[in-house]
Amino acid sequence: MKNIIDELKKRNEVLWINPNRIYTEPGFELHEKKFIHVKAASNRLLRFMPYIENIFPETAPRKGIIESDLLKLSFMEDYIKEKHENFRGKLLLKDDGHLPIAGSVKARGGIYEVLKFAEELAIKEGILKPGQDHLVMQERQFRELFGKYCIQVGSTGNLGLSIGIMAAALGFRVKVHMSVEAKEWKKALLRSKGVEVLEYPGDYSQAVAKGRQLSKADPFSYFVDDENSEDLFMGYATAAFRVKVQLYKMGITVNERNPLFVYIPCGVGGAPGGITFGLKQVFGNNVHCFFAEPTEAPCFTLGMSSDKADKISVYDIGLSGKTVADGLAVGRPSGLVCKMMKPLVSGSVTVSDKKMLEYKQLCMDKEKLYLEPSATAGFNVIEMLFGSAQGQKYLDENIKDVDRNSIIHLVWATGGGLAEKLDI
Ligand SMILES: *Cc1c(COP(=O)(O)O)cnc(C)c1O
Repeated sequence: MKNIIDELKKRNEVLWINPNRIYTEPGFELHEKKFIHVKAASNRLLRFMPYIENIFPETAPRKGIIESDLLKLSFMEDYIKEKHENFRGKLLLKDDGHLPIAGSVKARGGIYEVLKFAEELAIKEGILKPGQDHLVMQERQFRELFGKYCIQVGSTGNLGLSIGIMAAALGFRVKVHMSVEAKEWKKALLRSKGVEVLEYPGDYSQAVAKGRQLSKADPFSYFVDDENSEDLFMGYATAAFRVKVQLYKMGITVNERNPLFVYIPCGVGGAPGGITFGLKQVFGNNVHCFFAEPTEAPCFTLGMSSDKADKISVYDIGLSGKTVADGLAVGRPSGLVCKMMKPLVSGSVTVSDKKMLEYKQLCMDKEKLYLEPSATAGFNVIEMLFGSAQGQKYLDENIKDVDRNSIIHLVWATGGGLAEKLDI
């Protein structure tokens, strides 16, 4: 096998297979995190349903559940079959770009963390009783309490949108720390909601570090820490329960003969890591999760393949971290996520900006589906799995005695909804 780090340096697309993955049964425990933690997060979101439905009418069709559709992509499936003659299986897409409220996968983790903070604060202050209908959280005394607090976050864009929109709606003050390269429309949208947007030259980790430091100095400030947050992680993980039901409704049961392959775009790792943890809790060894990153910002692949986790950044190997996939423009992965993924993730791939833009166009032309470039990264895992000797080896070793036509391929499309709505 070629040296992965040399390939990353050359900006070549790579497939990294995780040598440390272990056999997992549903309901396992890992670093003190287990099934009940995902369940508790899911229950908290259920408690907020009436409140969410009331303040975000777009969530009414699902009664206040923030969820996206699971779609069949038959035209893209045909396209990939033409391109790679040994590709087999059904192609599905998780349409998180059309998650309500924030239009990206961040609506799972980000909104969850804000709601958890608000609920715990209200209970601590005695204005919310355990078990009480959360609709009361619209009342003035709640807004007055939340208004004393400031929620801060470092963001490449989408996390800021999800935290900003939710926290501002609850009545919190919000500060979002962004690198100057974040999209202008995202900053403008946040400012229109009364959010303070602070911009920093340099990379994403610096914006996060600045936010963390400013927040620490203020006892009425709460910092959503994209690089270390367990709440974000569990918020993302709840997706697994929903996917299981959605697959079931499509007549699909995941088991040894019908394995599920999931391809998720990766920035700092929280979203794909949380989703993977949840899916593994639900499907155990029958789900295979791969991450996808830009060739200029392959921080997870670098951290995992070098075993240096968050102690190495893409700048250390001469890459720029600059990519059209702004949701993935991250130079250093989350240490927490690297630790959690070591025994779980199947592998990761990198993808060029050019290919993400091609996939964006293909999804528009063939499926009438609007995605942002970041959201398309997962498609390249399929190409790398079915188009390389190493990918074939993974399939041969891991899905023995399985008719490959029974594989379910799920591309996790993570963003684009708000850009589409604003027509930019
Ligand atoms: C943030 C983001 C991701 C990746 O999530 P991380 O938690 O940073 O790994 C993927 N796609 C989009 C569109 C995003 O905004």
